[in-house]
This record gives sequence, structure tokens and C-alpha cells, in this order.
Amino acid sequence: MHLKRKKCDKIYLSEGAEAPGEMGKKRLEMRKRVCLIHTGGTIGMAGTEHGYAPKKGFMQSILSGIPELNSEEIPGFDLIEYDPLLDSSNISVAEWVKIAQDIKDRYDQYDGFVILHGTDTMAYTASALSFMLEGLAKPVILTGSQIPLCEIRNDARDNLITSLIIAGNCRVPEVCLFFGNELYRGNRVTKVSSDELIAFDSPNYPALGEAGVRIVIRDTAVRKAGETLKLSKFEPKQIAVLKIFPGIQFEIFENILTENLKGIVFEAFGTGNIPESGDALHRVLEKAEKNGTVIVVCTQCLRGSAMIGTYAASLSFARAGAVSGYDMTVEAAVTKLYYLLSMNYDLETVKKLMGNDLRGEMSPPQSGEGTA
Ligand code: ASP
Repeated sequence: MHLKRKKCDKIYLSEGAEAPGEMGKKRLEMRKRVCLIHTGGTIGMAGTEHGYAPKKGFMQSILSGIPELNSEEIPGFDLIEYDPLLDSSNISVAEWVKIAQDIKDRYDQYDGFVILHGTDTMAYTASALSFMLEGLAKPVILTGSQIPLCEIRNDARDNLITSLIIAGNCRVPEVCLFFGNELYRGNRVTKVSSDELIAFDSPNYPALGEAGVRIVIRDTAVRKAGETLKLSKFEPKQIAVLKIFPGIQFEIFENILTENLKGIVFEAFGTGNIPESGDALHRVLEKAEKNGTVIVVCTQCLRGSAMIGTYAASLSFARAGAVSGYDMTVEAAVTKLYYLLSMNYDLETVKKLMGNDLRGEMSPPQSGEGTA
């Protein structure tokens, strides 16, 4: 098998890929193959005097000590270890593009992909990949853990093994996140706990599957496979997120609303409401509109939708030409902005598409439902 080598990333080909012995050749040929991309995060960290930190080569050495990974029930896999390995707090647009490009480059060689990633920004990366990779016909599963693989008691082993099994099975041809026995649509997920083993939730869309005694996939919730994979790379863009709170003084934010600000996501109250706190709010929204900044309104509630026009308290947004984010997570709204702004569409197209469901990331109201 030929794999293009990146300058610094380390590629570990599993034995089966390098030299399939005569005896097991047939079985190996039939065995599914998964590309395992290790970006960093707790799952592969080692203890240091400063706390857990990523360590080069450590993942490969731990994996070779897990005999179950050679079981025929698990697809064969090759490991690509990124250099540097990152705490996911440091993962941003460049890393999203790199992961997406690595998947695209190896798309024909594997049955699926597992991305090992820190939990802190995993929901952003999952959303970003869902927008960048259009027309997927193979599973891309992000996973990680709250406790590293190197600890005796950990959630990493099950998350990894189950993700490999699901990635080797074509029934979920979309970007997913597997964690705490649940398989979620990647762009519907948010991190809800910093220390529990069930760290993620998909508040507005059902889980795509569950790993109990058996792994059960809810086929009706899964997206249809695409025909041709198309990669649209993100570019860095100036985007802001502003969470509304009682007593907010909008004048503080006036200075960030320059022409450079391409998009702003408001985390508004309830169904998309904002305090009518005098002239400053109107100045801020007017400035955004005049500068051509895309204004997206999401709810700060964990569940439900933001729909401008439901209450009079969202009138300021309506006047400024803001877009309802409906039930999108903030992670999905931010990465969707990166996506649409990188496509160089005109402003009206960006606004229109922002309110359309592109990758299963939102449930806009059906016609006749709602007011916006
Ligand atoms: N700080 C870590 C990260 O996101 C946390 C984790 O992996 O769970 O990389």
C-alpha cells in the first residue's frame, strides 16, 4: 500500500498492511481497513511533572500493548501521528484543513477514518469537517477520552475500539463523534462535561447509534451516502461570538465591529431575544449591517431553536437583517460561517445558506411552521 508521507507526521503501517503472510492473506484482504489519525488530546497523553501532556510515539507503543486490537472483529488500521501532537485548545483552522486534506488524500485507500482528538474542541472540529467534506460515503469518527489510555481505569480503550469497529462499517457515511457509548452526528454535538465520562450531548438531534451489548445504528437518523467527495478548505476569517447577559453594555463591543469582522454569532436569550438597552445596541447592530457582517442568532439554551420574530424582544435582530440559527449549536454556527465565508459567496448568499440545512446541522422550521 502506498501512503504519501507528510514531512513530519509519523506513519505506522500495521503489520497486515506491510507484509501479509501467505496463510492469512485472504482473510487480510477481506478485512476492513481504517486510517487512524492521532492529533493529540488526553487519549494519548502521558503523565509529566506538569500534568498530562502529549508524547511522541507514545500512542503506537500503547496500542502495540493491546492484543485485542489484532482481533479479526476489529478492522486493520494504520496510525498517522501528527507532529506536533496538540492539546485541542490549540487546534484551529490550519489543523482542520490538514485533517480534512489527509482524509481526502487517503479516501480511496480506507473503509473509514478515526480521528483521535482532545475533547475540549472536538465538537468544533467535528462540525468543521462536516462542512469541509461534502459528499462523504465513508464514516469519519472523532473520538478521544477523559482519562488517557495509559491509565489502568480509562474510557479511552472502549472509545477507540468501538470507533474503529464503526469506522470499518459503512453504515454511517458522515462525520460523527463517538463518546461514552453514544454515536452522534458531529455537527450536532457540544461538550457538556469537563470531568464525566459522558462528556458530550447532541441536544437537538437523536444519537445515530448506541454501543450497548450490541452496537445499534439508528439508520433512519443517518445521512445518505454522497457520490463524490469534495473538499472545500476553510480560510482564516474574523468571526466573533457574543453571549448576551442581563445588564450587557453594548458600547463595549462597538470597537470590534469593523469591516474586518465578517460574521458574528449572538448567543441570545430563549428563542433569540436581546435586551433593548438603549442606543448602544442599535449602533452595534447598525454598524454590523453597514459593514456587511453576517449576524447569526443562536439560543443560549441547550435545547430548542432561536427563531427571530417569535417575540418582540428579537425585533432589533430582525431590523438588522440577522439570520436565525434555529437549533444549531454555536460550534456548528461558527464553523458554518468559516465555510460559507471561505466560499467567497456574496453576502446575500451567505445569509441565505446560513439559514439552510447543509449537512444535517440544523432543523429549520417546515413551511407554515414558526414566524421567521
Ligand atoms: N485538554 C484536552 C484536550 O482537549 C482535554 C481532553 O482531551 O479531554 O486536548
